[in-house]
Amino acid sequence: MKVLVVEDSQLVSRVLQRLFQTADLPVEVIFCESLLQAQEKVDLYEDIFAALVDLNLPDAPKGEIVDLILAQNIPTIVLTGSYDDDKRESLLQRGVVDYIIKESRFSYEYAVQLVHRLLKNQAIKVLLVEDSSSYRLLVRKQLEKHLYQVIEACDGQEGFAKLQHDPEIKLILTDYEMPNMNGIELVQAIRREYETSELKIIGLSAADSPALSAKFIKSGANDFLTKPFNYEELHCRVMHNIEQMELVAQIQDAANRDFLTGLHNRRYLFEQAEKQLGPSQSKACLAMLDLDFFKRINDDFGHDAGDSVLTQLANLLRNTFNRFLHARIGGEEFCILLNGLNQEQAELLMQHFCQLVNDTVFTYKDQALPVTVSIGLVERELDSFSQMLNRADEMLYKAKEAGRNNVCSE
Ligand code: GH3
Ligand code: MG
Ligand code: MG
Ligand code: MG
Repeated sequence: MKVLVVEDSQLVSRVLQRLFQTADLPVEVIFCESLLQAQEKVDLYEDIFAALVDLNLPDAPKGEIVDLILAQNIPTIVLTGSYDDDKRESLLQRGVVDYIIKESRFSYEYAVQLVHRLLKNQAIKVLLVEDSSSYRLLVRKQLEKHLYQVIEACDGQEGFAKLQHDPEIKLILTDYEMPNMNGIELVQAIRREYETSELKIIGLSAADSPALSAKFIKSGANDFLTKPFNYEELHCRVMHNIEQMELVAQIQDAANRDFLTGLHNRRYLFEQAEKQLGPSQSKACLAMLDLDFFKRINDDFGHDAGDSVLTQLANLLRNTFNRFLHARIGGEEFCILLNGLNQEQAELLMQHFCQLVNDTVFTYKDQALPVTVSIGLVERELDSFSQMLNRADEMLYKAKEAGRNNVCSE
């Protein structure tokens, strides 16, 4: 996918180029300097997903570039040297995603962030619950301009049903007055099942009922917009809510991971294991793994070398067991929940892994380090996860006693 930048100032292009490099987005950025060149690019490439365009170009001083790009249905972000209300209004009317005034470095950072936002939006589903079909169409068009996937419902009941069938919906915009189930009832129904951190709701309320906004929020909505709202405000609120949700998800993820290796941590393992195990008759095995004589690595090569070994081992674990829940549960101890496998299958897999660690050359600053692991393995019986863990620990102890670099199972 490509992002097209149309900008005649070399300086601005260079700044944008650097910012795009730093942001490392999964897109190719193509620069050109005039309307004519831009025309060539849009004829040449079919996968331009967004464009950043300067309003004033040598061969198009009146913003003609905007019409060219919008005619191709490419989301367009405008860069402009000056601001006035009429210009802003006319640009938004014509359907640009946003306009950015070239004032400082922050303007360009915002532009690149916006491109990133558009990229992410493609995977975000927004449910629009509104009984007026004309209003629905208007709002839908606005959301699609920012590349959200929009799902429509014409009353609360239909909205709730659609939500339950689609776990990818992350944001709901809901009207108040609707047949069957109104907006407040919908919000209340949603909040019985979905937390505010996993699903955002913006209530749409009419200006003639000022108490409604507060009622929306008190019922569990995150935000509201008073009709008629301007589209810029709609986009700001939507973006704000989505970004807040992403931030919370990031923080949650960080709390579930080990800082050194990036693997999941003990806390996450315990939280998820019982959920994954399911009914007591389903098959599962648990492997516990511990580095052999790891203290010596620290003693002989330094603590940083030890850290590097942990990271290298974590990468092996991640690559080998990505479909299984795995975690770093202590200093040099790791766990893998082999859900769905019986003892025989699990043992084969763990023996392979033990061999893989033995055969892999671990290095630190060009020095090869001797690394092996011992593994304790147990099959699920009618016990809890923590009881399984205790049994795996005993098996691990036996593996150590038996000479290390091996797998011991019950
Ligand atoms: P055994 O084969 O019996 O497991 O011997 P061992 O030396 O691996 O076991 P021991 O439990 O005596 O030592 C574990 C060492 O792991 C001690 C501790 O300093 C080291 N360790 C724990 N966490 C970290 C870490 O995050 N980084 C580094 N570099 N070392 C760590
Ligand atoms: Mg209505
Ligand atoms: Mg050890
Ligand atoms: Mg240990």
